[in-house]
Amino acid sequence: MSSSVIDFLATEARFGARNYEPIGVVLSRGEGVWVWDTDGNRYLDCLSAYSAVSQGHCHPKILAAMVEQAHRLTLTSRAFHNDQLAPFYEEIAALTGSHKVLPMNSGAEAVESAIKSVRKWGYEVKGVPDGQAEIIVCADNFHGRTLGVIGFSTDPETRTHFGPFAPGFKIIPFGDAAALEAAITQNTVAFLVEPIQGEAGVIIPPVGYFARVRELCTANNVMLVLDEIQTGLGRTGKLLAEQHEGIEADVTLLGKALSGGFYPVSAVLSNNEVLGTLRPGQHGSTFGGNPLACAVARAAMRVLVEEGMIENAARLGARLLEGLKDIRANTIRDVRGRGLMLAVELHPEAGPARRYCEALQGKGILAKDTHGHTIRIAPPLVITSDEVDWALEQFAATLTQDFA
Ligand SMILES: *Cc1c(COP(=O)(O)O)cnc(C)c1O
Repeated sequence: MSSSVIDFLATEARFGARNYEPIGVVLSRGEGVWVWDTDGNRYLDCLSAYSAVSQGHCHPKILAAMVEQAHRLTLTSRAFHNDQLAPFYEEIAALTGSHKVLPMNSGAEAVESAIKSVRKWGYEVKGVPDGQAEIIVCADNFHGRTLGVIGFSTDPETRTHFGPFAPGFKIIPFGDAAALEAAITQNTVAFLVEPIQGEAGVIIPPVGYFARVRELCTANNVMLVLDEIQTGLGRTGKLLAEQHEGIEADVTLLGKALSGGFYPVSAVLSNNEVLGTLRPGQHGSTFGGNPLACAVARAAMRVLVEEGMIENAARLGARLLEGLKDIRANTIRDVRGRGLMLAVELHPEAGPARRYCEALQGKGILAKDTHGHTIRIAPPLVITSDEVDWALEQFAATLTQDFA
């Protein structure tokens, strides 16, 4: 580590809240799948800011849209209309086949907004007695870090000493449709779930699970809320991960790549019924739907489609998955993924995944461990086959080491 890197780390440690434990690299520039540190070393970004940079770092067309809009108008608040909001609505609705859109900023805000909306729908449309609405969620979920959301997390690190938490949530195992059936009552308004559990370690549910979930939700008049903040917008090789399951959610949450990593933009998408219950004054956000956010999101959606990034994620994700599965290393317990959302789970005896991530850094790859023994791999969707093959060489060289 150079002295400048040590200075950055020491200053962060001195002044910053220590709520992260980053790998010891200080990045100062990015382009496409590549990022550079302050010493000029180049790395292939295999995290993509948890899928927010799916379009690649500093995509020139998103950059141009942002700069152009920043020169014209950035924020009006929703007290007035702006000329970017209507086209944003129109384009995101056309892209995703949604009827109503609620623009917010962070992913967690989209989740909170969906919870508010489905509760209101429950009371005003479904007829649930006031204060009795129940929402079913899954164990090992990740839906963000706000108080409302961590209250139904099952991760002790996420929850401990942050309570008391709001009631109204029931937790069932992920991938278990019978558990959902048993948990639904007359007061259930929604089932909130990730199509693939990302933070839990890229957990893909059994075949047929979501088809059954869809049936149960429809039969019981329960809104199916899919948190596609990480899986959505091409990450899994389809626009939305729900398309792999042949279903449609009632409410879909997008964030992260909705801005290509330039600016926080999230959205709740739904049919007319759910978001239709919100009336003026009942929900809002100073920055939600601002012209800069809308212009950036419009460009981010446009390049995703125009530049074939979703197809690329499907094609090169398959190549990467196959290549990872071909690595013969007794450190590897499981390799899984869909599109460019992949994970290598190590045997516990292989030592912590973080050690492997640090070794990968030495070979020019930035990846992030999760849950101790899993390395997640999610490069920008603009990766080329040569870059995939190069990455596979680095993974093979690293995973055949033993750090135990
Ligand atoms: C990242 C993420 C969130 C939270 O998004 P923030 O922008 O960090 O608030 C919610 N749900 C899922 C599935 C995520 O991956």
